[in-house]
Amino acid sequence: MPCAPTRRVTVLVADDDPVMRLLMLEMLAQVGLEGIEAGDGIEALDRARSSRPDLILMDVDMPHMDGFAACSALRAAERDGVCVPVIMVTGSDDIDAVTHAYEVGATDFVSKPINWPILGHRVLYVLRASDAIARLRIADAQNRAVLAAIPDTFFRLNADGFYLDYEAGHARQGSPTGAVTADGAGIHFIGKHLTDTLPPEIAGRMLDQMKTVLATHQVRSVEYELIDSGVAQHFEARLVATNSSEVLGLVRDISERKRAEEQIRRLAYCDGLTGIPNRQAFLETLERELHRSRIGNKKFAVLFMDLDAFKRINDTLGHNAGDQLLKMVSERLRDTTRPSDLVSRGDSGGANIEGASNLARLGGDEFTILIPDLERVEHALNVAHRVKEAMRRSFVIEGNEIFVTASIGISLFPEDGDDSGSLLKFADTAMYHAKSCGKNNAKLYSSSLTMQIMSHVKLEVGLRRALQNDELYLVYQPQRDVASAEIVGVEALVRWRHPERGLIAPTEFIPLAEETGLIVPIGEWVLRTACRQARTWQRLTQRTLRIAVNLSAKQFKDENLSQIVLSALLDTGLEPRLLELELTEGTLMDDARATMVTLERLRNIGVHLSIDDFGTGYSSMNYLKRFDVRALKIDRSFISGLPQDAENAAITRAIIAMAHGLKMVVVAEGVETGEQLLLLEEYGCDMVQGYYLGHPSTAETITELLQVVQLMLPAR
Ligand code: C2E
Ligand code: MG
Ligand code: MG
Repeated sequence: MPCAPTRRVTVLVADDDPVMRLLMLEMLAQVGLEGIEAGDGIEALDRARSSRPDLILMDVDMPHMDGFAACSALRAAERDGVCVPVIMVTGSDDIDAVTHAYEVGATDFVSKPINWPILGHRVLYVLRASDAIARLRIADAQNRAVLAAIPDTFFRLNADGFYLDYEAGHARQGSPTGAVTADGAGIHFIGKHLTDTLPPEIAGRMLDQMKTVLATHQVRSVEYELIDSGVAQHFEARLVATNSSEVLGLVRDISERKRAEEQIRRLAYCDGLTGIPNRQAFLETLERELHRSRIGNKKFAVLFMDLDAFKRINDTLGHNAGDQLLKMVSERLRDTTRPSDLVSRGDSGGANIEGASNLARLGGDEFTILIPDLERVEHALNVAHRVKEAMRRSFVIEGNEIFVTASIGISLFPEDGDDSGSLLKFADTAMYHAKSCGKNNAKLYSSSLTMQIMSHVKLEVGLRRALQNDELYLVYQPQRDVASAEIVGVEALVRWRHPERGLIAPTEFIPLAEETGLIVPIGEWVLRTACRQARTWQRLTQRTLRIAVNLSAKQFKDENLSQIVLSALLDTGLEPRLLELELTEGTLMDDARATMVTLERLRNIGVHLSIDDFGTGYSSMNYLKRFDVRALKIDRSFISGLPQDAENAAITRAIIAMAHGLKMVVVAEGVETGEQLLLLEEYGCDMVQGYYLGHPSTAETITELLQVVQLMLPAR
């Protein structure tokens, strides 16, 4: 049973019969309702306007204006969907009157004769129902206001994908295909199918998701882009209600989000300084290329470029200038390595930043270039060549003209590696190799290079052990005075008896010893051993025999060189004048000032100097004279062609003549035949050394040789 309302509720009773009005008011009062009266339709309208009753009990038959007209006028005057419930009081069994009452907007009716005891309760029920309707209407209005305020578009679809209704969001592009009606109400969609309003591929994906929604009751979504308008949208589908087979669709414009994502992606994949792709982008490009090349059975190359002496530019001109240089370098690289320049292939993958994802800056002064669809290795070398050429023109930075060169390493897929890490690492290794070969170079990484490096590493480990394990020993090659035909000296040459590899030539391990600095202890050992041996021979034969020891550039630069030489002489008791240190031209020319100081110290000790491998370097004789060198050793490359090679013969003759002019002794290296010896004698060469006169031999063999010679020659 409905309860009486707690607030004051007013009911307007419109009836021309005062008795009826009285009775009605009485009944209403019994259920706690307050009544006001009107005697006809006009008065009813008037009171309704002025007193705003919560309900009207309206008699159909009234003078001046009947109940129908009054109800109709009332409804016409109502705004904003607020409508007061009207109960029409009709004659008994007057079906037409009842129908008419609803037509003019009545809420309910009671027919005469009135069942007085329940009238009040009937009114309460109607009040409650209309209260609920009013609240619903408010909620609905609120919902509509919310819907109108949000940018998303809503619609309902039936299970087959037909629109049941449609509410366009205020962002017009939020509606599928943007095809809304002028008032945005999307009336055109109702009754249409998804495929009528969207591109077939997108509609297909939506329908698929709808099926899942209907089957699983889950929320499903699809993201897509409308190509024509460039608008990106997110479609979300959910069941309208659990027991329903209708789907509520929501479409949201996500263009902004997509743009933001793209921006983030750009930042993550783009090198901030140069604007070209960064390491991450390059690695991903590399991964894609690996995948593509594996499938297509294709080859590609990775170029790794590093500027030579970039650090120097940074240090001397400052980081700003360094940054500018990097920008300019990347621009030149970009011009040189446009995808069309590499291979005619437009598709450069997902992280395509300014169309140049084949080029990237890994960091610092390191750049990488990917060359896809490689048919011949030469093509990669050509690109490397073009890159080097591009760097040749000077860069003008802050008014300074800067020249840079680049070293480039190249690794190949699939020859050198089949994963991005290895390919990048090997290209890097090849780049270092290029640098070590004199910079401004391009080198291919090849498995042989790895082998070389591996064996290098092994050799280095071995060399460190060699000294302690007595694996090094010296051989000696006699030097003969041409005029007297006497052995006047020997050159000490180091050998390494490797426990596994056997004999290793100095040409193989001396450069390694120099690189690792091991040459200093090895050189000291050679010097001491040679001096000791020379002293032994001197004691044995009572003859002056000069011993020549090779010095590497590293040893020559060693601060302690003169100390080492002096202590070797003192410890062994060898006279300084019997020790000759062989230096190459390059060693002397390296740093003229330091050279002069070192030479001065050595001269003070009293040892001699000779220039080894003369003719292969680029020093002038006059220059050499300043160093007070005792002897020149003509490189064996000039001697080996004699006597047939006229040009070498002329050079040899000229060197001898000029050296004599500067009061230097000339030694010819690599004399292998009697003919050569005769010719050199004719040219006035002072001394000879070579297989013809004796191979480098052990100390014992030389001892025997010296003893034989001693028997034949008078002691000095
Ligand atoms: P080098 O000082 O010019 O030594 C002469 C090289 O020519 C030696 O090679 C010798 O065996 C070779 N030779 C001598 N006569 C002939 C000949 O008639 N025909 C031919 N084809 N070759 C001949 P080796 O012993 O292999 O030494 C090579 C180089 O290694 C030396 O050239 C020297 O630069 C360096 N070296 C050797 N021992 C030492 C050392 O103890 N210290 C340093 N720093 N370098 C050394
Ligand atoms: Mg030598
Ligand atoms: Mg030599």
